[in-house]
Amino acid sequence: MKIFNTLSRRKEEFVPLEPGKVKMYVCGPTVYNYIHIGNARPMIVFDTVRRYFEYKGYEVNFVSNFTDVDDKIINRALEEGVDASVISERFIAECKKDMAGLNVKPATTHPQATKEIEGMLDMIHTLIENGHAYVAADGTVYFRTESFPEYGKLSHKNLDELQSGFREIKVTGEEGKEDPADFVLWKPKKEGEPYWESPWCEGRPGWHIECSVMAKRYLGDEIDIHAGGEDLIFPHHENEIAQSECANGKPFAKYWMHNGFLNIDNKKMSKSLGNFFTVREISEKYDLQVLRFFMLSAHYRSPLNFSADLMEASKNGLERIRTAAGKLAELEQKAAGAPAQDAAGRADGSETAMSAAEQENTAAAKELIAKFEAAMDDDFNTADAVSAIFELVKLANSTTDEGSSTAYVSYLKETIEKLCGVMGIITETKHETLDSEIEAMIEARQAARKAKNYALADEIRGRLAEMGIILEDTREGVKWRKA
Ligand code: AMP
Ligand code: ZN
Repeated sequence: MKIFNTLSRRKEEFVPLEPGKVKMYVCGPTVYNYIHIGNARPMIVFDTVRRYFEYKGYEVNFVSNFTDVDDKIINRALEEGVDASVISERFIAECKKDMAGLNVKPATTHPQATKEIEGMLDMIHTLIENGHAYVAADGTVYFRTESFPEYGKLSHKNLDELQSGFREIKVTGEEGKEDPADFVLWKPKKEGEPYWESPWCEGRPGWHIECSVMAKRYLGDEIDIHAGGEDLIFPHHENEIAQSECANGKPFAKYWMHNGFLNIDNKKMSKSLGNFFTVREISEKYDLQVLRFFMLSAHYRSPLNFSADLMEASKNGLERIRTAAGKLAELEQKAAGAPAQDAAGRADGSETAMSAAEQENTAAAKELIAKFEAAMDDDFNTADAVSAIFELVKLANSTTDEGSSTAYVSYLKETIEKLCGVMGIITETKHETLDSEIEAMIEARQAARKAKNYALADEIRGRLAEMGIILEDTREGVKWRKA
């Protein structure tokens, strides 16, 4: 298996630290709002990476954090007049609903920054002790970048250039820095902000330290894969490397993986341009499986453009796979009901054997599995892996009918399901609707009503009714039940 490593800028053979095991850390979202479709890209991509490792027989320890203390969370909490934890807990719950809709598996551990302060104090203390960090007069603790000669190795930046670059940017409140390239590990509290006691000042952690600490606690000093969106390469991941390697005295992550950005209609997604979508908004128009399928239609490192046309194409592609899987399921059921016959046409109750032609087609299907695996082994080329699935679908459509043997039909059905499973794609047309999906739709309907968009609210109610979900407005809020 080859992985493109941002550290070496090359594809490298994957060799796990421990045979048969993968320790993987993916930077998660800052929870101050519903996640947007850009945030969904690393979730889907790295969930697929995890699923492929599992398919290959690895045991994956997958850790992904929630950043639950941050300026944006604090600002929203001040706006709403509530505690910051009310905002972060609300959006962690909402994020988990979206993840369920996208069929992203829950991580082995989902740590939260505010619950890991003790570990952060420990690591900062170690960094001060060994000369890699210092305390400024106001109690701010900074990392001393010059103490780590390898600083810049991930982003391929040179420390001298960084220092002169930073010199242009003066940040008020950071006058205590020894060097413009130094970064914050701990900062003093401001009025109205959440804070914790520390030996340096009452305050809160900088953003980067949380990931170094959570990776260490849940995975150990050395990990196999560290991942996130490409915007995190600098400074976030560069700073994580500096902190972890200086505190632990060991190389931190062996492979660094970064997904490309998701743009909308070829423009950077931004609220001010009005081209900003949350996953929740998309779920009102599409089955979220379509969004997942769309994300996997491109290589994870390429930029990806979101547009209505591409979503329609993904919807049709997914439909094609589901129709084929549905047909195979029907044929399988019919065959199970009919008396089984062997190749000579004797009904003897045993499973029908494959004909010679079917055996040949099975060999062709096995070649397509090999093609799928070769694509995934080559730095998780999901675009090519999806085309192998389409070829299998074509093979199934053109070589099965009521005369096919159960063995052949079942083999194709299971193969398509298995490969789609690696992609996190559910092949059943009417997959069991999850409670979380229903709740997400009810939530969207409430939001539409609040925004006085009654047409949309009614539309969602209609869609829920089609799914057999009955809504009741009660004094405790909206309740639902299956008809
Ligand atoms: P944030 O909440 O901004 O820290 O982002 C959480 C994750 O989403 C990080 O891995 C980001 O790199 C990733 N991300 C944010 N915006 C986009 C985007 N437009 N396309 C792809 N990934 C993104
Ligand atoms: Zn991180």
